[in-house]
Amino acid sequence: IIIAKGVHKRYDNDFHVLKGISLTVNKGEVVVLMGPSGSGKSTLIRTFNGLEPYQEGKIEIDGTEISHNQKGIELIRREVGMVFQQFNLFPHLTILKNVTLGPIHLKGLSQDDAEAQAMELLERVGIAPQANKYPGQLSGGQQQRVAIARALAMEPKVMLFDEPTSALDPEMVREVLDVMRKLAQSGMTMVCVTHEVGFAREVADRIIFLAEGELVTDTTPDKFFNNPEEERIKQFLSQIL
Ligand code: ATP
Ligand code: MG
Repeated sequence: IIIAKGVHKRYDNDFHVLKGISLTVNKGEVVVLMGPSGSGKSTLIRTFNGLEPYQEGKIEIDGTEISHNQKGIELIRREVGMVFQQFNLFPHLTILKNVTLGPIHLKGLSQDDAEAQAMELLERVGIAPQANKYPGQLSGGQQQRVAIARALAMEPKVMLFDEPTSALDPEMVREVLDVMRKLAQSGMTMVCVTHEVGFAREVADRIIFLAEGELVTDTTPDKFFNNPEEERIKQFLSQIL
């Protein structure tokens, strides 16, 4: 469902951050992206929803090439949900409104339909009782679960996660990972940048390791964690395990 071929990106036409990345993510797969800080993980994942322009190569989402015209980008953003480290909820809107905003304005759902759908999603992530509160009244873990519900409300074909738990207190990490695990089990196609080893081992179909803008390996969790071949991966694992 995601096909990237030879993607190169330079910031300000100078710093070469992605050096010819090619990868495929199949429907229903969960891919975990790992790599040292600055290796280009966030940059790469953002190219998958049109947030990040790139200079060379080609990216296709479910058969549609990400082109740099506005219409193409809007189409892709509807099909690709994204959850960030910082939850990016609208602080002045209730939880319910945060979730219904996209479907009402971008998908043309009626208020009633959008609210019914939102309540179902909030139920699914365990936040239904908080629907009428504001983001500031929720814990970080709760806010992140709302951010996931908000992305799901657009009925995306792919969900991208960029370190969704790294801004959370440890006791809240699990509730977010549980929601992600359930989502994976429901068959959602997911690309997750995360250093949560337990989640990666248990949920990922594949681990992709980036270093200095290059794809170093694309392998199974078992091989990646238990039998890494590359020196760069061994070194990385010794820091996170
Ligand atoms: P981290 O684990 O710290 O989140 P990352 O793997 O996500 O790192 P990126 O955020 O993709 O890495 O950044 C890759 C490189 O590109 C870094 O060296 C970073 O300094 C550089 N970079 C990121 N954003 C910009 C920008 N807007 N302009 C110039 N350089 C940038
Ligand atoms: Mg990053």
